[in-house]
Amino acid sequence: MLMLEKTFPLSSKMRISVDHEKLGNFSQSHVKFYLKYSSFVFRALKKPSFQKFLHWMLKKEKIEEQTIMDVHVKVLPFRRKNGKGVAGKCDTVRGRIRIYPKTMKFCQIFTRKFGRNTLLVYAGNRARAALIHELLHLKYAEDEKTVRELAKDYFYVFAQRQPAQSSKALCIYTMIFTAKSVEKKLLQASQTIQVQG
Ligand SMILES: [Zn+2]
Repeated sequence: MLMLEKTFPLSSKMRISVDHEKLGNFSQSHVKFYLKYSSFVFRALKKPSFQKFLHWMLKKEKIEEQTIMDVHVKVLPFRRKNGKGVAGKCDTVRGRIRIYPKTMKFCQIFTRKFGRNTLLVYAGNRARAALIHELLHLKYAEDEKTVRELAKDYFYVFAQRQPAQSSKALCIYTMIFTAKSVEKKLLQASQTIQVQG
């Protein structure tokens, strides 16, 4: 009915999912942490203000919402064989998008340095940036350079539109798009702490 038009179709294609066979590789406290993380990220991605923004972006990019089959917020982190963490993946043929968390270790170091509230803002916005990025892959496929540039621009537009009290999103923007150096610094800091401790 007409009322359905007011909800965003993408929102109904989102799920939290876990690879049960991988659960055994994680301790109970890790699983508990990742379950909390994923439900927080899931809520951040489903927020109407963000869904509305995605709807606008998809329209602007002429990406048909039907090309998206599903978006899964994965509970457990995923690492490439080279050890690098993955924020998201997109199967452009099937239209399947996967969003992955940061590791618990990263979050602990981050929290020590910036506090829990900043971690939550960071985690939510990192997932948003990842979803924007993966959605753009549906159109630009293997063109990583274009996807990265556009994702950065679009995330900036989103962050700027947020009300003042969540203007932290703009600081997080800098963090996410310079994430590599932040991560490096954090790891160095943790190593120093370990050495000192
Ligand atoms: Zn990419």
